[in-house]
Amino acid sequence: MSYITPGQKEWLQMLYNDKTYLEMLESFGTFVEKKVLPAELDTEVHRAKNPLSEIKSILKDKNRFDWETIEQSINEIKSQQKIPEEVYQQIVESGLVGMTFSEELGGLGLPYPLFICFLETLGKASPSIGVRYAISNTVCEGLRFNHEAGDLSDYCLATLKQIIFGEKLAAFCLTEVSASGSNIMQEMTTRAVSNSNGNGYILNGSKFWITNAETANVYAIFARTSDDNSNGISLFLVERETPGFRVGQVFEKRVVENSSLGELVLKDVEIPMQNRVGNVGEGMRYAIRMLNSGRITIAALATGLAQRAFEEFLENAVEGKKAGQKHLIEYDRTKARIAELSMEINAARDMTLRAAWLKEQFDLDPDNQNLLWSYVIASNNAKLKASLIAQKSCDYLIKSWGASSVVKENRAMKHYLDSWLYYFGEAVPEVLENTIAHMEIKKYKSAKGL
Ligand SMILES: Cc1cc2nc3c(=O)[nH]c(=O)nc-3n(C[C@H](O)[C@H](O)[C@H](O)COP(=O)(O)OP(=O)(O)OC[C@H]3O[C@@H](n4cnc5c(N)ncnc54)[C@H](O)[C@@H]3O)c2cc1C
Repeated sequence: MSYITPGQKEWLQMLYNDKTYLEMLESFGTFVEKKVLPAELDTEVHRAKNPLSEIKSILKDKNRFDWETIEQSINEIKSQQKIPEEVYQQIVESGLVGMTFSEELGGLGLPYPLFICFLETLGKASPSIGVRYAISNTVCEGLRFNHEAGDLSDYCLATLKQIIFGEKLAAFCLTEVSASGSNIMQEMTTRAVSNSNGNGYILNGSKFWITNAETANVYAIFARTSDDNSNGISLFLVERETPGFRVGQVFEKRVVENSSLGELVLKDVEIPMQNRVGNVGEGMRYAIRMLNSGRITIAALATGLAQRAFEEFLENAVEGKKAGQKHLIEYDRTKARIAELSMEINAARDMTLRAAWLKEQFDLDPDNQNLLWSYVIASNNAKLKASLIAQKSCDYLIKSWGASSVVKENRAMKHYLDSWLYYFGEAVPEVLENTIAHMEIKKYKSAKGL
């Protein structure tokens, strides 16, 4: 059975009718199933074990009980809970990271909807690995836009190429601890002021809930450059080794456990002028632009998780769980749930790939206002739909397992916990609804000449 969902292939056929893309997706699916999925499952198995019994048995095997051996045992256990570096390396080698960017930038010049199909597939096996690359891609998309607008410095362009090439990983750093993430543009406190020579900036503040906190090499940091309501934020690239910059708390969490989530602390971080992305005061616009494409990537990952939970639900209902001598599938309520999930997951995928196609059209015609509205509505629609159906799919899977869903070894609860990344990440439903309504009203008024 292919790891690729028929709906993904049908979309590619509809859009391109090119066998090469189908083959690329199939071969990526095989790689994900054979390499990424087992690596993710392995970390789950090790996390489900009791660490104290694990240490006890390692010490017993080694017949040593000194501090050094205890520490070595802890590190051994921790390393078993991590995705091996070679898996990340293989993902980079698969071409995923730079596939949609132009050859001039070091990419492969492939269609964005194909990338979105790849991401759905990756998200099906590992939401943690999926979000690692989705976030880095979000940063690249923003930088690419600046490059095409002709306002990207040589340093930022070189960094963009390094990320596309897989030499660097990026983090998108907007949220702060003292503010509501949904209202961050108004409440942002991280500041950037010109240095005494006027040839750079000094950044102070902190960022919270940042994906890739420990794993990134370069951080796209939004900071206040003035108190102006709409033009007060600018965007900067900060390298990991910059003096004054450090990774603060790293959060132990129950969602996407293989992804690094943490705090970034900036204390008198001095960076050259060329680290500023684009123009001063346009950070809010850049963030929205990045989030427009970023939300499509989250929708793709959420669709992948929804599909995974759906497949496990089907397996459990058809071949596994019984109630009163009958498999769950024999009950009408189960069939209704299957029908509901089938319809909603297909809808989520259709909306995600339509948004991906609209994004590509908008990239070709960036001054087309109507196209922009359609693209933004589609991107927000897709993220809203896919994040909610991912939760529902996992919820039905848990219910199908009954009490056995609550033990650590059962994956259903893990899927459900992972689905909260897609609920919160890159905006909560209320914010998406506000954006969709705002855009629809704009479209309406424009059509009516109001
Ligand atoms: C796993 C994970 C990874 C993340 N990665 C990143 C990252 O890489 N970079 C980054 O910058 N951020 C990241 N975030 C932060 C994320 O973007 C925020 O969680 C999100 O923007 C919501 O902000 P908040 O958590 O502060 O919730 P809030 O904005 O405080 O919202 C909490 C609740 O308040 C209500 N609410 C908020 N606004 C409205 C409204 N307008 N109308 C009605 N009700 C409302 C809703 O019920 C909402 O659920 C990550 C978060 C998670 C969980």
